[in-house]
Amino acid sequence: MSLTLDESTAATKINFEVSFSEPQAHYIDVEMSIADLGRDFVDIKMPVWAPGSYLVREFAKNVEGFSAADSKGNTLGFKKTNKNTWRVSLNNKSEIKVNYRVYAFELSVRTSFVDASHAFLSPTGVFMYVDGMIKEPSTVKIRLAKNWAKVSTGLEPVKGKENTFLAPDFDILYDSPLEVGNQDVFEFTAAGVRHEVAMYGGGNYDKARLSADMAKIVETETAVFGENPNKHYVFIVHNTSTGGGGLEHLNSTVLGARRLSYADEAGYKGFLGLVAHEYFHLWNVKRLRPQALGPFNYDQENYTTDLWISEGFTAYYDNLMLRRAGLYTPEKYLDVVNADINTVENQPGNRVQPVSEASFDAWIKYYRPHENSRNSTISYYDKGAVLAMVLDLEILGSTKGKKGLDDVMKAMYDEYYKKQKRGFTDAEFRAMAEKVAGKSLDKIYNDYVNGTQPISFNNYLGHAGLALVDDNKGRVQPFLGAATVIKDGKVTVTAVARGSSAWNYGLNVNDEIIAIDNNRITLAVDPNTKISDLDRSVVTKKVGEKIQVLISRDGLIQTLDIQLSANNSFRYRIAESEDVTEDQMLVRRRWLHL
Ligand SMILES: [Zn+2]
Repeated sequence: MSLTLDESTAATKINFEVSFSEPQAHYIDVEMSIADLGRDFVDIKMPVWAPGSYLVREFAKNVEGFSAADSKGNTLGFKKTNKNTWRVSLNNKSEIKVNYRVYAFELSVRTSFVDASHAFLSPTGVFMYVDGMIKEPSTVKIRLAKNWAKVSTGLEPVKGKENTFLAPDFDILYDSPLEVGNQDVFEFTAAGVRHEVAMYGGGNYDKARLSADMAKIVETETAVFGENPNKHYVFIVHNTSTGGGGLEHLNSTVLGARRLSYADEAGYKGFLGLVAHEYFHLWNVKRLRPQALGPFNYDQENYTTDLWISEGFTAYYDNLMLRRAGLYTPEKYLDVVNADINTVENQPGNRVQPVSEASFDAWIKYYRPHENSRNSTISYYDKGAVLAMVLDLEILGSTKGKKGLDDVMKAMYDEYYKKQKRGFTDAEFRAMAEKVAGKSLDKIYNDYVNGTQPISFNNYLGHAGLALVDDNKGRVQPFLGAATVIKDGKVTVTAVARGSSAWNYGLNVNDEIIAIDNNRITLAVDPNTKISDLDRSVVTKKVGEKIQVLISRDGLIQTLDIQLSANNSFRYRIAESEDVTEDQMLVRRRWLHL
């Protein structure tokens, strides 16, 4: 977007003014001025979701005190026509002002939060849009609360107007969160782009080290696509005691980090992994995107079968980029890949839900997990990352290391984002992958993307002279298959694994396990063996033996006779094949950046 941002272009029809009269009580005060309305009434709407986080969150639930007036301050009538629409009667007025307040007390990357120390404005939950005017530019003026100093956002400032920003249209406004307060801001330049890091909440971060490592990630990722489309990019980082999450935007991102995680190696690399993930999204999903993901419908779910590409490939690349940037050793990188494979293969839902369906149903399944989700669903992040590796290795193998998944991503970006300026279809992505691979990808698509067949990992890892070894092979160990926690002092079942002894013999979620074979169960862990008394009462038995489990289900005592079956989980590790050929070494070198 290349608008000249001077005062003349800021003559927009829709202007927001945001103030904070009661930040300590978590309120955002919004005034929305709308001009040039030649009609009888106007529908003003609050989005129901935040793009990138595929759940209807009903942001209108936080709105209160809606009112409308003409330019002279005369009140205009309105009525709500559905959960997120306010219909204002215009009485032949073409200019109106709308006021409302938003209660904001949910600090996450996709919801808004205000307290005395700062405000985070997640725009789909703060700014309403005028039905039919989503393409209109607007301005946002922020009136700082007392003792607040600055605003950090990817929106461009309007010259000559303090804390005022221009959004070229509502898609860009909704893609540009704002951090307001006294955040600690530092900058670095990489790939020709000025990067701003806005840290809220303090923490033990080292700015020089972070700038250097984040710059490496930026350069490495830019090299995949051959260009960095932004001039300015903002990382908004919320440092809290628990951290968590990230949300991608066009030229910014919001990251949740643990305040004191920067000094230890695992915590620091975890943060860099999050940076690599969200930054990769500025290409993959924000620009190179499935058709359903932009322009968005803010009123309802937007369905796509391609989140295994948009999220899963991004999850593959985040670790791969740390490897290429030299922030992971090859060994560490393979450990991470191995962990992904184990996660996917040990989830019973992987045999039930195809990953393309997991994507489509993200709104009702991935974002609404329950006690049986592990048995019936697979994450499009985890499975998508594994499939990205499978595709990468298949392409590297079939082209003798000359081409890889990078070439598919770059070609797709060039064709659909830059040239055709639209989202891609499932078939277009597949066609490009097959073109680059120089072969049909029928098996991968039929069996692993749209099916639930076990992945023949050795076919793909074999291209790099590697093999998957199952350390559990030949091991026969009894297994109950129930996850438990202590709840109200009671050993309580929280999940039952599909096909396990617990599943087959009817142990249920919420059952309290009182005793096994007449021994009281407490979950106490033996300091020597590190196993709980519950686990001990199972692993000391033989497969095929029975245990007697005394339970309380909804207050009624009963005994279950459970015959123990064998643990059928995998413990995979990636190992070197014998007699590795030069072709295999070529692929390995290219994949692992050796
Ligand atoms: Zn993501």
